[in-house]
Amino acid sequence: MNEMKSELEIFREFLKNKGMRYTPERETIIKEIFDTHDHFDVDSLYISMRQKDIRVSKASIYRLIPLLIEANLIEAVFFEGGQMYYEHIYGHEHHCHLRCINCGRIQEFADPRLRDIEQELADRFSYQIIRHKLEVTGLCPECRNRQD
Ligand SMILES: [Zn+2]
Ligand SMILES: [Zn+2]
Repeated sequence: MNEMKSELEIFREFLKNKGMRYTPERETIIKEIFDTHDHFDVDSLYISMRQKDIRVSKASIYRLIPLLIEANLIEAVFFEGGQMYYEHIYGHEHHCHLRCINCGRIQEFADPRLRDIEQELADRFSYQIIRHKLEVTGLCPECRNRQD
């Protein structure tokens, strides 16, 4: 059986290959990130850890984020209210985001036609396509109703 490696295992190997240490603080933050099954930003992650009496520094979280991105475990998905939001990508179906600019609500969607566009781009520009990211902004049904 081809069992999937856990995010922690992947990250431990990633750090090892980079000659970096896998510290208890790093592990604490990563566990918290992978227990968060939603889009997250550093500030709210930090606040929720403090509320649970988990002591880490915000600077450590900020330092960890680029490493998790480099290890292909998370991705920056959108920027809102001065904060960058991230989500897990490892083991998750690829999807795009429709975001309400008024209340911040996120609708995730996937559309197979985007794969055709990728293929067209690959042919047109002789690229090997790796990923795409699509964010569409608008007003959600509730915010639209409130406007009327
Ligand atoms: Zn809204
Ligand atoms: Zn998402």
